Amino acid sequence: MFDKILIANRGEIALRVIRAAREMGIRTVAVHSTADADAMHVRMADEAVCIGPPPSSESYLSIPAIIAACEITGAQAIHPGYGFLSENANFVQIVEDHDITFIGPTAQHIRIMGDKITAKETMKNLGVPCVPGSDGGVPDLASARKVAEEIGYPVIIKATAGGGGRGMKLARTADEIDEAFQTARSEAKAAFGNDEVYLEKYLGAPRHIEIQVFGDGKGNAVHLGERDCSLQRRHQKVFEEAPGPVIDAETRARIGKVCADAVASIDYAGAGTIEFLYEGGEFYFIEMNTRLQVEHPVTEAIFGVDLVREQIRVAEGLPMSFTQSDLEVNGHAIEIRINAERLPDFAPCPGRISQYHVPGGLGVRMDSALYDGYVIPPYYDSLIGKLIVHGRDRVEALSRLNRALGELIVDGVDTTVPLFHALLQDPDILAGTYNIHWLERWLKENMG
Ligand code: ADP
Repeated sequence: MFDKILIANRGEIALRVIRAAREMGIRTVAVHSTADADAMHVRMADEAVCIGPPPSSESYLSIPAIIAACEITGAQAIHPGYGFLSENANFVQIVEDHDITFIGPTAQHIRIMGDKITAKETMKNLGVPCVPGSDGGVPDLASARKVAEEIGYPVIIKATAGGGGRGMKLARTADEIDEAFQTARSEAKAAFGNDEVYLEKYLGAPRHIEIQVFGDGKGNAVHLGERDCSLQRRHQKVFEEAPGPVIDAETRARIGKVCADAVASIDYAGAGTIEFLYEGGEFYFIEMNTRLQVEHPVTEAIFGVDLVREQIRVAEGLPMSFTQSDLEVNGHAIEIRINAERLPDFAPCPGRISQYHVPGGLGVRMDSALYDGYVIPPYYDSLIGKLIVHGRDRVEALSRLNRALGELIVDGVDTTVPLFHALLQDPDILAGTYNIHWLERWLKENMG
């Protein structure tokens, strides 16, 4: 059992991990940059180590500094949170080489899923439905044209090493393929240092549905249903809900079992998310995230589980505390991501929080590292809080979200809160009839 773990992250997710560890009687070590000396995660952890200057490349991404912090404090394990080093196989390898436990999957699993072509091939072989496309990388324009003719236009060209919605180009017709292919290649090279691209059928109006899986690393795995994260701006999720408004129990059980069986058969350890586009009643795998997701709380709400606690348990070599038959959907949960950004252009808006008031009451959870007087530094992600509500059904969750939003006060910086006030009045949001393009269109019409 661990006595002490280090959290290689900051912000709300660092607090999330500290809270789970404390409930398990485990001491915590925060790491921070000089810009985060006054951050909440530093105050809340049992110990804190400054690991470098403000830029993440010299602090939260500095592997030597994080390993040194473990050695100085005697932390036996590292929780990576999301982002930063959470999906860096090289980091995991180094952590293990230092006899420190990485709270997450093995370096090998991270490597497989981090390369999109390998991930897709692996999933296909494990029986997971994939988007029709090229089998592997497309080396040149002639092959790109050939594959596109075979699968039919429109097609999307994606970088093997891509992430965060970057490195994707759409070709609607044969006229557009040359330029799309060349641009995708050169952008991939510039952004990821790897110009390998692959081709997929472009789906016109899918929903983004992702399945939460959890494995014990010993061949057992379960699924915890789906999250619908279709509301996206520039491929970034802004509103997530579980269960998905268009997924019924039978569909959930079917796709959930496919996913759980797939990760069980590779001895996957810990939390993972298998992302799909969902159109015409079919699931199409796009990628797997080998970490805890930002939106994990909606799953926790409807299943009544603590996913971080489970991650720590499995890393300690303990079995999961639930089996598939223990996991039943209870009600409906919604999360909204609150960013320090100025509307309508979503420009980052760091600065001093002059007043902060957190909503409360039944079924309301606010995960945030804000406090009165806190100064949001300009160096990191603009996510400053997640408001999560849980109700008996979707209608109750929506009215609870409306009520909770009304209680929330974040003064001193601009935030995306007004966006949600507006969205919650929209008939499509109330009816749950939206797809991955809905929000961009809505923004153009309402805030353009
Ligand atoms: P990233 O790793 O950059 O997030 P993904 O493969 O997860 O890339 O895709 C991100 C988003 O891009 C998806 O949520 C979806 O909105 C869009 N997308 C990806 N593949 C397709 C496709 N084949 N057809 C239509 N949209 C797609």
